[in-house]
Amino acid sequence: MTNVANCKKCGALFVQTAKRDICDKCFEEQFKLVNEINDYVMNAPVESIFLDNLLTKFNLKLSEFEELYQAGKFVKISQKVTMKCAKCGNIVPIANKTNMLCSACAKKLQNEI
Ligand SMILES: [Zn+2]
Ligand SMILES: [Zn+2]
Repeated sequence: MTNVANCKKCGALFVQTAKRDICDKCFEEQFKLVNEINDYVMNAPVESIFLDNLLTKFNLKLSEFEELYQAGKFVKISQKVTMKCAKCGNIVPIANKTNMLCSACAKKLQNEI
């Protein structure tokens, strides 16, 4: 029996072959985008790139980036892409973050709870 599902991204019906919740078209687009972002960051002649600039350049929502990041798509560039900690304002590589906090603040927050 074939499994037909709605694509999580575009809503189109597609035949679910792998453990995937998006259709082939969206999967391919996402794959391309991830490659483009990785290439762009790896080849950028700067030491670090601010996450906000990256999102603007690739017209990507933070939530979309987060999802891909959680899926391990940006491991290669996670030391080069930086973000501002929502709490202390320090600029840290996204590799050192938990949600939108730097690891120091995330740790502090955990101790407070
Ligand atoms: Zn789709
Ligand atoms: Zn912080």
